[in-house]
Amino acid sequence: MIRPILFYPDKRLREPGKEVEVFDAELHQLIEDMAETMYAAPGVGLAAPQLGISKRLFIVDVASDDEEPSDLRVFINPEIIAAEGESVFNEGCLSFPGIREDIDRAERITVKAFDRDGKPFELEAEGLLAIVIQHETDHLSGELMIDHLSVLRRRLVHRA
Ligand code: ZN
Repeated sequence: MIRPILFYPDKRLREPGKEVEVFDAELHQLIEDMAETMYAAPGVGLAAPQLGISKRLFIVDVASDDEEPSDLRVFINPEIIAAEGESVFNEGCLSFPGIREDIDRAERITVKAFDRDGKPFELEAEGLLAIVIQHETDHLSGELMIDHLSVLRRRLVHRA
Protein backbone atom coordinates (compact mmCIF):
# COMPACT_ATOMS: atom_id res chain seq x y z
CA MET A 1 0.00 0.00 0.00
CA ILE A 2 1.32 3.41 -0.94
CA ARG A 3 1.18 5.75 2.04
CA PRO A 4 1.12 9.56 1.88
CA ILE A 5 4.48 11.29 2.34
CA LEU A 6 4.60 14.27 4.69
CA PHE A 7 5.92 17.49 3.24
CA TYR A 8 7.95 20.15 4.97
CA PRO A 9 7.02 22.08 7.15
CA ASP A 10 4.85 19.30 8.66
CA LYS A 11 5.83 19.24 12.35
CA ARG A 12 5.86 15.45 12.49
CA LEU A 13 9.06 15.53 10.38
CA ARG A 14 10.75 17.08 13.42
CA GLU A 15 9.80 14.32 15.87
CA PRO A 16 12.68 11.99 16.76
CA GLY A 17 11.88 8.36 15.96
CA LYS A 18 11.66 5.73 18.70
CA GLU A 19 13.79 2.59 18.76
CA VAL A 20 12.14 -0.41 17.13
CA GLU A 21 11.79 -3.21 19.68
CA VAL A 22 9.48 -5.68 18.01
CA PHE A 23 10.36 -7.28 14.67
CA ASP A 24 6.98 -8.70 13.74
CA ALA A 25 4.59 -9.01 10.81
CA GLU A 26 3.34 -5.47 11.40
CA LEU A 27 6.88 -4.14 10.98
CA HIS A 28 7.33 -6.21 7.81
CA GLN A 29 4.09 -4.77 6.42
CA LEU A 30 5.34 -1.26 7.17
CA ILE A 31 8.63 -2.00 5.36
CA GLU A 32 6.69 -3.30 2.36
CA ASP A 33 4.52 -0.19 2.31
CA MET A 34 7.58 2.03 2.61
CA ALA A 35 9.24 0.29 -0.36
CA GLU A 36 6.11 0.61 -2.47
CA THR A 37 5.83 4.31 -1.54
CA MET A 38 9.52 5.00 -2.26
CA TYR A 39 9.48 3.28 -5.67
CA ALA A 40 6.25 5.03 -6.68
CA ALA A 41 7.59 8.48 -5.74
CA PRO A 42 10.25 7.65 -7.08
CA GLY A 43 13.06 8.11 -4.59
CA VAL A 44 16.29 6.43 -3.45
CA GLY A 45 15.53 6.54 0.28
CA LEU A 46 12.62 6.89 2.66
CA ALA A 47 12.50 7.16 6.45
CA ALA A 48 9.51 6.13 8.59
CA PRO A 49 9.06 9.67 10.05
CA GLN A 50 8.37 10.89 6.50
CA LEU A 51 5.16 8.84 6.69
CA GLY A 52 4.33 10.19 10.15
CA ILE A 53 5.59 7.00 11.80
CA SER A 54 7.88 7.78 14.68
CA LYS A 55 10.27 4.83 14.38
CA ARG A 56 14.02 4.58 13.80
CA LEU A 57 13.72 2.83 10.45
CA PHE A 58 14.61 3.73 6.88
CA ILE A 59 15.01 2.03 3.53
CA VAL A 60 17.43 2.75 0.68
CA ASP A 61 17.74 1.62 -2.93
CA VAL A 62 20.45 3.39 -4.91
CA ALA A 63 20.33 1.04 -7.92
CA SER A 64 19.53 3.06 -11.03
CA ASP A 65 16.30 2.35 -12.95
CA ASP A 66 17.82 0.05 -15.55
CA GLU A 67 19.74 -1.96 -12.99
CA GLU A 68 18.26 -5.35 -12.19
CA PRO A 69 17.62 -6.56 -9.61
CA SER A 70 16.87 -3.71 -7.26
CA ASP A 71 19.05 -3.21 -4.23
CA LEU A 72 16.62 -2.60 -1.37
CA ARG A 73 18.31 -2.23 2.00
CA VAL A 74 16.56 -1.89 5.34
CA PHE A 75 18.14 -0.11 8.32
CA ILE A 76 16.52 -0.39 11.75
CA ASN A 77 17.82 1.48 14.83
CA PRO A 78 20.85 2.59 12.77
CA GLU A 79 23.90 4.28 14.18
CA ILE A 80 26.72 5.81 12.14
CA ILE A 81 29.79 4.68 14.06
CA ALA A 82 32.53 6.06 11.79
CA ALA A 83 32.70 8.79 9.17
CA GLU A 84 35.57 10.16 7.15
CA GLY A 85 36.34 12.39 4.20
CA GLU A 86 34.14 15.07 2.67
CA SER A 87 31.77 15.04 -0.23
CA VAL A 88 29.24 17.49 -1.64
CA PHE A 89 26.20 16.12 -3.37
CA ASN A 90 23.16 17.80 -4.89
CA GLU A 91 20.49 16.20 -2.70
CA GLY A 92 16.76 16.01 -2.98
CA CYS A 93 14.19 14.79 -0.45
CA LEU A 94 10.70 13.38 -0.96
CA SER A 95 9.51 15.75 1.78
CA PHE A 96 10.81 18.77 -0.21
CA PRO A 97 9.34 18.25 -3.68
CA GLY A 98 11.17 20.07 -6.45
CA ILE A 99 14.05 21.23 -4.26
CA ARG A 100 17.68 20.19 -4.70
CA GLU A 101 20.56 21.61 -2.68
CA ASP A 102 24.30 20.97 -2.40
CA ILE A 103 24.89 19.37 1.00
CA ASP A 104 28.21 18.56 2.72
CA ARG A 105 28.47 15.01 3.97
CA ALA A 106 31.12 12.52 4.94
CA GLU A 107 32.54 10.58 2.00
CA ARG A 108 32.73 7.19 3.72
CA ILE A 109 30.80 5.89 6.68
CA THR A 110 30.37 2.78 8.76
CA VAL A 111 26.84 2.15 9.95
CA LYS A 112 25.54 -0.48 12.28
CA ALA A 113 21.88 -1.39 12.32
CA PHE A 114 19.41 -4.26 12.51
CA ASP A 115 17.76 -5.93 9.55
CA ARG A 116 14.05 -6.65 9.25
CA ASP A 117 14.38 -9.80 11.34
CA GLY A 118 16.23 -8.04 14.14
CA LYS A 119 19.64 -9.38 13.13
CA PRO A 120 22.46 -6.87 13.68
CA PHE A 121 24.79 -5.98 10.82
CA GLU A 122 27.54 -3.51 10.05
CA LEU A 123 28.10 -1.90 6.67
CA GLU A 124 30.84 0.27 5.20
CA ALA A 125 29.52 2.57 2.49
CA GLU A 126 30.81 5.26 0.18
CA GLY A 127 29.51 7.35 -2.70
CA LEU A 128 25.77 7.73 -3.19
CA LEU A 129 24.93 4.95 -0.73
CA ALA A 130 26.88 6.72 2.04
CA ILE A 131 25.12 10.01 1.27
CA VAL A 132 21.64 8.51 1.30
CA ILE A 133 22.32 6.66 4.57
CA GLN A 134 23.44 9.94 6.21
CA HIS A 135 20.40 11.79 4.83
CA GLU A 136 17.97 9.13 6.07
CA THR A 137 19.67 8.78 9.47
CA ASP A 138 19.10 12.54 9.95
CA HIS A 139 15.36 12.02 9.43
CA LEU A 140 15.28 9.63 12.40
CA SER A 141 16.32 12.41 14.77
CA GLY A 142 14.02 14.97 13.16
CA GLU A 143 16.83 16.59 11.22
CA LEU A 144 16.22 17.74 7.68
CA MET A 145 18.34 18.50 4.65
CA ILE A 146 17.82 22.25 5.08
CA ASP A 147 19.46 22.13 8.52
CA HIS A 148 22.75 21.70 6.65
CA LEU A 149 22.28 24.93 4.67
CA SER A 150 23.43 28.44 5.49
CA VAL A 151 20.83 30.73 7.06
CA LEU A 152 20.54 32.72 3.83
CA ARG A 153 20.08 29.65 1.66
CA ARG A 154 17.51 28.26 4.10
CA ARG A 155 15.43 31.45 3.80
CA LEU A 156 15.40 31.08 0.03
CA VAL A 157 14.18 27.48 0.30
CA HIS A 158 11.44 28.57 2.75
CA ARG A 159 10.18 31.04 0.21
CA ALA A 160 10.26 28.61 -2.72
ZN1 ZN B 1 14.71 13.18 3.03
